[in-house]
Amino acid sequence: MSTLRILREFAAVRWLRPLRSRRAVDRRQRRLLKRHLRFLRRRSPYFRDLLADRTFDALPLMDKRVMMAHFDAMNTVGARRDEALELAIANERSREFDADLGANSVGLSSGTSGHRGLFLVSPAERDAWVGTVLARTLPRGNLLGHRIALFLRADNTLYESVRSRAVSFRYFDVYADMAGNVARLQQYRPTILVAPPSVLRVIAEAAQAGAFDVVPQKVYSVAEVLELADADRIRKALRQPVLHQLYQCTEGFLAHTCEHGVIHLNEDAVLFEREPLDAERFVPIVTDLRRRAQPIVRYRLGDVLRAKAERCSCGSALAAIDRIEGREGDTLLFRGREGGAVPVFADVMARALLFAEGFDEYRVVQTAASRLEIALDVVNDRSRRSVVAEVDGLADRLDCERPEVVFVRYERDPAVKLRRVVRDWGSGTG
Ligand SMILES: [Zn+2]
Repeated sequence: MSTLRILREFAAVRWLRPLRSRRAVDRRQRRLLKRHLRFLRRRSPYFRDLLADRTFDALPLMDKRVMMAHFDAMNTVGARRDEALELAIANERSREFDADLGANSVGLSSGTSGHRGLFLVSPAERDAWVGTVLARTLPRGNLLGHRIALFLRADNTLYESVRSRAVSFRYFDVYADMAGNVARLQQYRPTILVAPPSVLRVIAEAAQAGAFDVVPQKVYSVAEVLELADADRIRKALRQPVLHQLYQCTEGFLAHTCEHGVIHLNEDAVLFEREPLDAERFVPIVTDLRRRAQPIVRYRLGDVLRAKAERCSCGSALAAIDRIEGREGDTLLFRGREGGAVPVFADVMARALLFAEGFDEYRVVQTAASRLEIALDVVNDRSRRSVVAEVDGLADRLDCERPEVVFVRYERDPAVKLRRVVRDWGSGTG
């Protein structure tokens, strides 16, 4: 790991590359894309073939399946899929994450789509990533002496590499007992707290119960969809003016929140194409303009993002996003009264349930054409009636059949990524 490389990236992201106009963003992206395609033609057999007779816009879309199928020909460091996979699995089993493939790090992405993904990162990319993350997260005006607490489900060498003398990091295992984690967190007194919303909820409860009294300078939600209701509770309990988000996945570091709490796409390094779902919502297709070991080119993410209509008042020209709403595959499908399937975005369902009462934790799973299984931590007449009223109201507003609702008990499982709204039936989005 090269401290110099990290610092250079930190400085570039934080101070040298303000990108205050849309034109500056476009110009930078065009320049990086040109250079990237030149590199891919030279070093990636897969892209060399594709680019022989077509332009960037005509390249086929990529997803995890395509990436795994063409892994050997696609990567530019001569890595073999089976060997990399074996190593990544061994790392995951031992939970040590120290074996590397040559100079490169490998890891597994769990994801929610069922396919197991493999990612590969070079030392330079890792340093750039560390520099970027620090530049995007450290509070303005005070850079040194931070204590950063990270709660991670699957740590990997990428995160493990973030160590420096100027900042201290401590890793907390989400598989470990949470009461013990909270006690250690209280002792560590983090200035910056980074965790999935399901873990932040537990810490927020501890704060309300008096078991955690630290007020971090910044709190980041990562790795799971942040529901509005959760955001509000966490923010209040941890006494934060803003709850920040990092949109980071194995496909890249894609977005961050600014000082105003607005999500901005990291367009200084990633090109976003938009596949529209409705007037505001879209599925991002991303091209990481700087990631070379394992190219991410026109990668369709399958997440639902909602664009912000107006420009952010922070002055950044990076596209502003209202919400990261969830997985496209978790868009529920209600049965229209006139026939046909009506998409109900996960966020729309979550918003409807904001008004239901008598419970704290919930999970909605569509299990059949017109059936929802709803898990609540408190199942009684009041919570049941309230939830059914909101679901019926939503169905009526959308001119849909009212779905049958089956109630079950809510179980908390830290080993699984929390998705509050899930479609476990049918395929595609209709
Ligand atoms: Zn902003």
